[in-house]
Amino acid sequence: LSASTPLDRLMSDFHELSRIGANALGGVERQAATAADGAARRWLTAALVRAGATIHIDQVGNVFGFFEWVAGAPYVLTGSHLDSQPNGGRFDGAYGVLASLDAARHLSDDVTTGAWAPTWNLAVVDWTNEEGARFQPSVMGSSVFTGGLAREVALGAEDSQNVTVRQALTAIGFLGEAPTGRDFLAYAEIHVEQGSRLTAQQTELGIVTGSWAAFKYDLEFTGEQSHTGATPMAQRKDALLAAALVISGVHALAADAGDFHASVTELEAYPKSPNVVTARTRMHVELRAPDMQVLWELEARFLELLRTAHRETAVTNVIVRNWHREAAAYWPEGIELARRAASAVGLRTSEMATISGHDSIALNSVMPTVMLFTPSAGGWAHNVNELTEEADMLNGLIMITQVLRDLCTLSGGGVRFRA
Ligand SMILES: [Zn+2]
Repeated sequence: LSASTPLDRLMSDFHELSRIGANALGGVERQAATAADGAARRWLTAALVRAGATIHIDQVGNVFGFFEWVAGAPYVLTGSHLDSQPNGGRFDGAYGVLASLDAARHLSDDVTTGAWAPTWNLAVVDWTNEEGARFQPSVMGSSVFTGGLAREVALGAEDSQNVTVRQALTAIGFLGEAPTGRDFLAYAEIHVEQGSRLTAQQTELGIVTGSWAAFKYDLEFTGEQSHTGATPMAQRKDALLAAALVISGVHALAADAGDFHASVTELEAYPKSPNVVTARTRMHVELRAPDMQVLWELEARFLELLRTAHRETAVTNVIVRNWHREAAAYWPEGIELARRAASAVGLRTSEMATISGHDSIALNSVMPTVMLFTPSAGGWAHNVNELTEEADMLNGLIMITQVLRDLCTLSGGGVRFRA
């Protein structure tokens, strides 16, 4: 029996997909290129093939479904990601892929029946490793696609067990060889908001106008292993103490700046013994702000914190790796197109910057990009409690369908991006 309404079809897909990697807490465990991610990818490719798409797995495992309606014409691209955080929620990324899939089915039906004649083709994509939980950096597959990250760097990234992206993608049967060889005109993504701004403003849809900058650092502290009892306090080089000073300093920076988010995660300490002073620590630091100038100033204060921690503890510290993602504005005509689409389908919108990273940020650097948010009940994100109400899931589907309809008939054609 086939599902009868667009909401039935979306919810049936959503329940099927949510079973893949489902955990006992009501969330999903579907980190990038794990067996569960592989199963989710196979579920998606089967659904895309049933909808009439041609599948291509690219050089970093991104999964594409091409709907070629107009022979040789370039593509409008839409999608998000199926990978999750550890013990993650069911909606992050997955909702956007499902909404894109369902919109493509709907538009494809309209092409088949002759109800609609697009100028451009449509492709649905599941980007590899958006989350950056198992492998860093995050937003990996879309960054390789856009040329912002080298394929060899991405495939060489290792998880905590020293498994590379190349090995993990090969193991699940999703390491492709080549770019798609197609031309792309524009990108559209819908994602759950991961915050409470839409609920607070009592609107049904977010139109993203810009993205916050994010600076990320992997730090390593090297002190000296010694006896927690016998070693005189003045002689200790305690790498855990140095880390603690930086952790509390980073949080203090965030406390006195306005629009600024900071966090320290992934603390590891060696050796692990109750009576050995910690010789080495590693941790990850993130600084995020809407404005680059603010973030450069905060980075200077953060570097000062590292120097202070060194002076006070005699422990050395180094930034092993760092990433600077700049703040960016989204495509002005895309924002205008989304406003018109929302008004055509009768949805109230809010306009906002995205604080979180998304694949659309990578795409926005190379082609006209539209980014939409659907409300997150309770604002939960990267948590099993993530929830988007059915009515909001349907509103988002209606909206992305309208946006894709408009993009696929956009006049001009703009710049074509081949990848
Ligand atoms: Zn996401």
